[in-house]
Amino acid sequence: MKYRLVEIFASLQGEGRNSGRQCVFVRLAGCNLKCPWCDTDIAPRFSISLEELLSEIESLRHKSVVLTGGEPTMAEGMAELVAALKERGYWIAVETNATCGFDDAPWLEFVDYIAASPKAELGTVPIKLDRADEVRVVASMPKTVDFCRKVRKMIVATDYYVSPCDRGGAIDWAAAKDALKELGDWSLSVQLHKILGFR
Ligand code: SF4
Repeated sequence: MKYRLVEIFASLQGEGRNSGRQCVFVRLAGCNLKCPWCDTDIAPRFSISLEELLSEIESLRHKSVVLTGGEPTMAEGMAELVAALKERGYWIAVETNATCGFDDAPWLEFVDYIAASPKAELGTVPIKLDRADEVRVVASMPKTVDFCRKVRKMIVATDYYVSPCDRGGAIDWAAAKDALKELGDWSLSVQLHKILGFR
């Protein structure tokens, strides 16, 4: 099989607890949600084998890898990829919209860090992930606070963050600030990469 990818690049993690960490980002194509404000390119641009992917990652010279999307839990071959990265000593994080649980994607047990970012625009798609290292909710709707409270009951995590919504470059800090005031012990995910002009 081949991995359907959008891009592979090196950058700083801009969100959550690992902000500032230098990582290789592997963006898997495809997503099961259609968030109206989504600015992520999720269409496949190329397909490569496991060996080619590992070689690309190695060439970028960081020992941390972020598997992102799109929605990486929907991609094929993830168990093999995670096993191969572990064998080579990489620290692995995954960014997921939380609609797949450990039963659907058992390889999640073997990554080092799970950042769950459930979306208020889920519609009828259920949240199935019940634990993560951090949870990040985008302040994209007037009912963000209600959604955050619901998510907190569904996903056990160490840290909970509100991220400002980015609508085509217009970052809505005010909505994030308002949500944080009501939520009390949630933190702001500042999106460091955007502030510093990293991709
Ligand atoms: S879950 Fe993420 S990648 Fe998928 S549509 Fe929503 S914002 Fe875009």
